[in-house]
Amino acid sequence: MLYLKACPRCKGDVVANRDMYGEYRECLQCGYMVDIDKTNGVFSMPVALKKKVA
Ligand SMILES: [Zn+2]
Repeated sequence: MLYLKACPRCKGDVVANRDMYGEYRECLQCGYMVDIDKTNGVFSMPVALKKKVA
């Protein structure tokens, strides 16, 4: 799933992915990441903090 111009940081294109923690969206341009699945609340901290790019 691709979300055009959905990145709040750079207005880039965001793609939906899934990892062991649930679904998330990642910007193809700047690497900004946003969690989608909030029900898996153990690791509820913003994913963006784990991956500081640019
Ligand atoms: Zn971006």
